[in-house]
Amino acid sequence: MSEPRRRIPAVSRLLTHDTIAPLADHFPQSMITNAIRAELEAMRNSAEIEIDLDALAGAIQRRVRDFAIPVLRTVINATGIVLHTNLGRSPMADSAALAAYESARNYLNLELDLDSGERSSRQNAIRAGVCELTGAESATVVNNCAAATVLTLKVLAAGREVIVSRGQLVEIGGGFRIPEILVASGAILCEVGTTNITRLGDYERAITPQTGMLLRVHSSNFRIRGFTDSVGIAELSTLGKKHGIPVIDDVGSGAAIGPFGDEPRIADGIAAGASLVLFSGDKLLGGPQSGIIAGRTDLIKRIEEDPLMRALRCDKMTLAALEATLRLHRKPEQIPTIAMLGMTREVLKTRAEQFAHRLKSLPDIGSVEVQEEPGFAGGGTMPDVPLPSVVIALTSRCHSAESLATHLRMGQIPALARIKSDRVLLDLRTVFDRQLDDLFAAVSTAASESLK
Ligand SMILES: *Cc1c(COP(=O)(O)O)cnc(C)c1O
Repeated sequence: MSEPRRRIPAVSRLLTHDTIAPLADHFPQSMITNAIRAELEAMRNSAEIEIDLDALAGAIQRRVRDFAIPVLRTVINATGIVLHTNLGRSPMADSAALAAYESARNYLNLELDLDSGERSSRQNAIRAGVCELTGAESATVVNNCAAATVLTLKVLAAGREVIVSRGQLVEIGGGFRIPEILVASGAILCEVGTTNITRLGDYERAITPQTGMLLRVHSSNFRIRGFTDSVGIAELSTLGKKHGIPVIDDVGSGAAIGPFGDEPRIADGIAAGASLVLFSGDKLLGGPQSGIIAGRTDLIKRIEEDPLMRALRCDKMTLAALEATLRLHRKPEQIPTIAMLGMTREVLKTRAEQFAHRLKSLPDIGSVEVQEEPGFAGGGTMPDVPLPSVVIALTSRCHSAESLATHLRMGQIPALARIKSDRVLLDLRTVFDRQLDDLFAAVSTAASESLK
């Protein structure tokens, strides 16, 4: 055991190696030293006895270059899934991205009223925009809709009962489960009705002096079909008013305009009398990750005064991007999420055919076919409303679809595709025109690499 260890070269010797020394022109010394240490550590744990100094230096060089590649990279989303949570949900409009960029590299009047010179609220940036879009009296924003739910429950119902239909005790994904969120906020869950049927009388009978809230949760990522009944937000709001209990509508996806399948529209919840409506900024709104609380001024004020608000508040980049996104709702076709969801079959077909034509010139690609295929909105929206789409189905000459897709994912510009019946499906609904050349290069490289 001790023999091979003695042959392990010193860090100082490697630093002056011909391959490694020039790295110092481009990378920090600490990064190079860390790469050398990591490679030597790997070597100590391996059974190899002979050490090839040049091979070792090559491995260190690769490790330094890998360190320099950021973990978060831009990818091409050719899955056709518009609100892909693993890929960052909504890509933002240029004006929203630019607003975030400008706010990031400058100072701004985040909490300063420029007319009076007095301190102001950062929420002023979004209040008017949300009210215009939803018809709400007032609004405030926190980091995401999960935070909006916890905060609202805590402020309005900690230590009190919250009445929820058994059909709405849902898990949204990523560990967001309504019963657990209630516990975390200090509220007490009072379940009513059954999985498939809950009626107004079920809520009414459960109301006691301990009741702090009537909560409706949008079932987002699933639907119950068949023998079902649930209470609409209008009826629930009337009941809440009769008993002086706030009615909260957690709609999640938040269709500001629409219709998008059977997704609830925020303005409808407000108009129907909900005390507060909660929704995400990066689902159907098409903006940055955020959670918007819209509704009664007195309740918004109580929420903003809660100490937890400080822990959940948004940063300047989010607020700038959200303000810009709200403004863009006057021209919603400029919001990428909305434009992609609304892309017509004809447009999808033309784009797919043009791209397929280019792909046919690649020598390592086997078959290229344009076919109709249902896609999905994603992000827990419209789970059973397929978006009719047109995709390009590809095979590589000698390799499986799995292998081609893996090479696409691991390429210099990573591209994500779907696989079906041993074909790679490219759905251009979610690929921007500006990315088409990169996608073409990615397919070309992946197809030739998967031959090796
Ligand atoms: C998506 C969703 C949430 C969580 O929203 P995030 O912004 O991802 O935190 C909460 N409630 C409902 C009903 C949802 O659909």
